[in-house]
Amino acid sequence: MTVARGSMLRTIARIRELRAALGAMKRVGSRIAVVPTMGALHDGHLSLVDAARAKADVVVMTLFVNPLQFGPAEDLSRYPRDLEGDAAKAKARGVDVLFAPAVDEMYPGDRVVSVVPRGLDERWEGAVRPGHFTGVLTVVAKLFNIVQPDVAVFGRKDLQQVALIRAMVRDLDIPVELVVAPIVREEDGLAMSSRNVYLGADERARAVAVPRSLEAVRARFRAGERDAAVLEGAGRDVLRDAELPADYLACVHPDTLEPVVTADERTVVQTAVRVGRTRLLDNLVLGDEGP
Ligand code: AMP
Repeated sequence: MTVARGSMLRTIARIRELRAALGAMKRVGSRIAVVPTMGALHDGHLSLVDAARAKADVVVMTLFVNPLQFGPAEDLSRYPRDLEGDAAKAKARGVDVLFAPAVDEMYPGDRVVSVVPRGLDERWEGAVRPGHFTGVLTVVAKLFNIVQPDVAVFGRKDLQQVALIRAMVRDLDIPVELVVAPIVREEDGLAMSSRNVYLGADERARAVAVPRSLEAVRARFRAGERDAAVLEGAGRDVLRDAELPADYLACVHPDTLEPVVTADERTVVQTAVRVGRTRLLDNLVLGDEGP
């Protein structure tokens, strides 16, 4: 028998209230999974709910547009927000608790302590967005301490974020199991992202070159090419033809994110591309069939 889900969703804005609700569930032995998001939910986010459900009795989704991880010139004020729509989607997908705190609840006063990575944040997104990963790790550490989940689910879409959270969990001995979910894409291959709404019609059409560039790399890999520079060239050709400037397109080790010279099955090709004013991130595992 399938159990109809989605009938009960509790939306909670206060840390104290969340702790009380989850405490009661933990006392009866429930396993808790957390899915951190910034809202503006799409099917990518909702696929993380399914992955969480497979691992736990209670699924907590957090919804918080974290000011700490936005640079001064970034899109904090215009980032899409839709609490009501998000709550409906979360409920329909079977989320049990939606934690949607105000900024004051998460950051009530001057902060003295942050979680600052060293090393893994110097390249790629970290190089383009100084301080971004300090903001990410600080809020994720806070959410881990607030929810105290058994399991936490993140998307491989944000590859460097996953690598850094994994490093934080290891280095700070945080007792949580990390689950990394594959990338959910639109029909034409574009990775789903809350920021896709910024794309104009023409930009949206051209954005398909982003996944195409990565597919070109994977096709060359499957054809037997292993030289990372040659593989990357195949991807850059696609972006050049579409006149899309890449901040980077690189074959990297999946955990260290160091560039590789010779690709293997686990190598990830990742890119960040500017389509108008919007930066799109995407990646593919060269040895995988999947998205
Ligand atoms: P965000 O709301 O952008 O901070 O994303 C919240 C979580 O959803 C992160 O773990 C992302 O990696 C994940 N995510 C975002 N887009 C996708 C996607 N297209 N497929 C799967 N996961 C995604």
